[in-house]
Amino acid sequence: MDDLKYGTRDKRGNWAPSMPLKIAPFWTGKFGQLGKWLIAYLWPHNTIFMAVTMAYWYLVLPDWAVMKSFAWGWALRLYAVNAAGIFVMYGSIEFFYYVRRIQGTRFKYNHKFPSENPSDVFWFKSQNIDNFLRSFFVSIPIWTMIEVVTLWCFANGFSNRIDPAAHPVWIAILILLVPAIHEVHFFCGHWLIHQGPLYRWIHSVHHNSINPSPWSSMSMHPVESTFFFSEMMWHLLLPSTPFVALFQLTSTAYGAIVGHIGFDKLELTDERAMDSHAYTHYLHHKYFEVNYGGDGLVPLDKWFGTWHDGTKEADERMKERFRRKKERMGRKKAPVTPAA
Ligand SMILES: [Zn+2]
Ligand SMILES: [Zn+2]
Repeated sequence: MDDLKYGTRDKRGNWAPSMPLKIAPFWTGKFGQLGKWLIAYLWPHNTIFMAVTMAYWYLVLPDWAVMKSFAWGWALRLYAVNAAGIFVMYGSIEFFYYVRRIQGTRFKYNHKFPSENPSDVFWFKSQNIDNFLRSFFVSIPIWTMIEVVTLWCFANGFSNRIDPAAHPVWIAILILLVPAIHEVHFFCGHWLIHQGPLYRWIHSVHHNSINPSPWSSMSMHPVESTFFFSEMMWHLLLPSTPFVALFQLTSTAYGAIVGHIGFDKLELTDERAMDSHAYTHYLHHKYFEVNYGGDGLVPLDKWFGTWHDGTKEADERMKERFRRKKERMGRKKAPVTPAA
């Protein structure tokens, strides 16, 4: 496909989409765009996460009687399935688009591939090895642990579990709200770990990958992983069900890749491509202090002035914000002149 029909490429070879990012149309009164937005909301990402949730529900979870007590057997089985699922899903995108490079750099935001940039900030100087090890030996075990604890709570009645047959409308609404819960939870915690020492101690691990690839998605400090996956536990407090809780977790875990694909579109045929929805979070990795949330379903970035839609105007606004912040910091650090 000709990616220059959809965007521009700078002198270095970095590609950017020509269409600005848009928040959900019901916030801007553009109700005519609602149908198109709704289709993109459901297909393909959330449909895939729902299919994965159903596979876990029907094929992977043990009986509720088993989940009443902690045991290594079912916990390790869940870890094995989680690790295998991520290996297959993230691994295939990594293999085809980053190792085999079937699409070259078409629709690729950063013209370089992480393997071309060895750096001391990574274990073994390799972003790929570092990100892979952190995913499988830090984040996926923490994901599994939170999953086990939440299921154990449901099994033992430590929840506000409701009967879906008695509340079908609420459950349908809750399922549709899962991505919104994710966006709010992620924005709040993510913004917090961008502040001062918390950034240096925790979140800098994830941001070492300035040019993210699929394995970067779960490359996190253990504290960040714990916050990230704990989103599922809101369903212990809300009137909810274990199935919806599992959908929340699946969307978080299998959805972490979305912002880290590095390509704007994944070509399927010579004429057809799938939108990745990666640009919002790519800009976050590029500029750090913009787009703390997601695609603008709940546009907290817009409301708090940190939204970057990829345009020159947004760039100017961001630079002005950074300049004002620098000024404030400078004032704080300036020596106090003694009173006359
Ligand atoms: Zn990221
Ligand atoms: Zn961040």
